[in-house]
Amino acid sequence: MLTCRDVAREASDYIDHAQPWHRRWRMAFHIFICFYCRRFLRHLRVTRAMTQQRGAEPASPQEVAQIVEHVCNHP
Ligand SMILES: [Zn+2]
Repeated sequence: MLTCRDVAREASDYIDHAQPWHRRWRMAFHIFICFYCRRFLRHLRVTRAMTQQRGAEPASPQEVAQIVEHVCNHP
């Protein structure tokens, strides 16, 4: 079973459909049962859409890791 931290770490790949099917299936199952990860993915999608509309630089892996750490520690 994946943890919330696993999902947060791979959320970007999940949104981009850049994972093997078995990993994606495990993520989908966790997201189905976990309110916090559903909320996190919804926020990530909205944030991405906003940055793409504004032509802003996407977050660096370090920035994403900081956000993940914050979300995982403050549900
Ligand atoms: Zn979760």
